[in-house]
Amino acid sequence: FGRLQRQDPELAQVLLDELDRVRGGLQLIASENLTSPAVLAALGSTLNNKYAEGYPGNRYYGGCEVVDRAERLAIERACQLFGAEHANVQPHSGASANLAAYAALLQPGDTMLAMDLLHGGHLTHGSKMNFSGRWFDVVSYGVRRDTELIDYDEVRDLAVRHRPKVIVCGATSYARLIDFAVFRGISDEVGAWLLADVAHPIGLMAGGAIPSAVPYADVVTYTTHKALRGPRGGGILCTAELAGRIDRAVYPFIQSGPLMHAVAAKAVAFGEALRPEFGEYAKQVVANAQALCDSLGAEGMRPVSGGTDTHLMLIDLRDLGVSGAEAERRCAAAGITLNRNVIPYDPEPPAVTSGMRVGTPCLTTQGMGPQELKEVGTLVVRAVRHPGAAAEVKERVSALLAAFQPYDSEY
Ligand code: PLP
Repeated sequence: FGRLQRQDPELAQVLLDELDRVRGGLQLIASENLTSPAVLAALGSTLNNKYAEGYPGNRYYGGCEVVDRAERLAIERACQLFGAEHANVQPHSGASANLAAYAALLQPGDTMLAMDLLHGGHLTHGSKMNFSGRWFDVVSYGVRRDTELIDYDEVRDLAVRHRPKVIVCGATSYARLIDFAVFRGISDEVGAWLLADVAHPIGLMAGGAIPSAVPYADVVTYTTHKALRGPRGGGILCTAELAGRIDRAVYPFIQSGPLMHAVAAKAVAFGEALRPEFGEYAKQVVANAQALCDSLGAEGMRPVSGGTDTHLMLIDLRDLGVSGAEAERRCAAAGITLNRNVIPYDPEPPAVTSGMRVGTPCLTTQGMGPQELKEVGTLVVRAVRHPGAAAEVKERVSALLAAFQPYDSEY
């Protein structure tokens, strides 16, 4: 870092300011985490420099024998961690992993069934603004209006009616467990591939805190930077039967040179997740989410779908008369970072929304437990209800954070 500071003080200052921002506030974005210095070291390594198109032992560039070891470690550790038959660790992101998985299983114009973006699905699950919605014939399922839980009867009816080639389960703002066995049954009934996009809860599955999708799905896509606490990136797990199709879809179909520094960092993160401490972490993330959810609920913030089984919760703000966008702004002013989010059947447009999404991966990494999360809930409610109290809440946030600082101030 000293070298960067001497050569490019302007950019070095950006890094320092971002560190200050993270150390100075409560990070409640459900899709973020605070990765370890070891993962950051691999990311900032000379493996960044190496071209390695292809796979270990079969590259289209010379000099890959060293980086091959990093990718082999990542693959072996991913298979061990998730009990998977095959792992591809090259996708640059979760969206790339989904693109590759679709490319392996679908042709343009084929039908897929996936969760509606407005009910918690991801952009890559068939939004018209995304390649998935433009290139495939997408049928969407959602949650029931009364329970706000996935409507499995609707999923089955749509599957029987439309005969999709791929059924996608998994979501970006769904706080409850997904019943992968039911999705497997529906997929078998209609002869569809089952793709589980577990970008969000993969870390909880790795740590054994919630049931894994791997035994049920033909293909599992995920990100490495959320609850899993690794580098930004994606990954795919699949059955031995689909290994060749998945590998060819990642390279050469949608990507060329893999990011070998990121692949190495994924190996480090998988290694960390294989340790027993990570299991403790994953369970603590869920316990903390429940404590936060109870605390918010007790003060009038209704959790969509009645609570959480995972690391995140979606909050309906309508009883407070505050939009998601306004809540996000008020929290930011009080040193609390979270995001607005549509809720199912939201009367407001996505830029405004009636909800917000919060999660506990970061605060749990920082060492907080249910007691602190209860207090965090109180601070969030105060920040949203009383914008005039922002400075006071910010002070209380700083006092709480004093004992839970991530990284040191120099890192
Ligand atoms: N799939 C789901 C369910 C997600 O929640 C996300 C990201 O939030 C992605 C895919 C995409 O991941 P990335 O942002 O790495 O492309």
